[in-house]
Amino acid sequence: MSNYNHILVAVDFSASAVQVLNKAREISDRNNARLSLLHVVEYLPPIDSVYEPTLSSTWVIDEAEMLEQAKNSLKKFSQQQKLDNAELHTLSGAPKHEITQFVKDHQCDLIVMGSHGRHGINILLGSTASAVLHRMPCDILAVKIDT
Ligand code: AMP
Repeated sequence: MSNYNHILVAVDFSASAVQVLNKAREISDRNNARLSLLHVVEYLPPIDSVYEPTLSSTWVIDEAEMLEQAKNSLKKFSQQQKLDNAELHTLSGAPKHEITQFVKDHQCDLIVMGSHGRHGINILLGSTASAVLHRMPCDILAVKIDT
């Protein structure tokens, strides 16, 4: 296996998130690599703000609140898992886009994610894992999740 310097774990807070994290942790320890955790808030703006040229204040406040909650959840998750040195990140948008962009912006050389999560089952991989697989500029490890 290659040497990795910066590993990204895509955390969806599903029941399998710990299993995914543990696999990433194992590889990170072996490679002495940086470990970043990313959760993407899947935010759908209210219908009226989609069609209005200016964004409603409700949209901005809701999104900020959701990001704040996600930040707290990720912090709690990392404390529960006793991750002392992991870098924690939250973004909003479509997970497949945000995960791919994050990897490019932060020069990650491995992404670890679950084969399946909340978005249902495609033939081989969940929808996020299979979308990311086709865009990813680095190695990707899909941890087998039994459904
Ligand atoms: P899914 O597409 O829901 O089957 O999820 C497959 C994997 O994609 C999950 O195990 C996570 O690693 C990752 N993933 C899905 N949704 C998110 C999200 N909102 N934020 C971060 N990672 C995610």
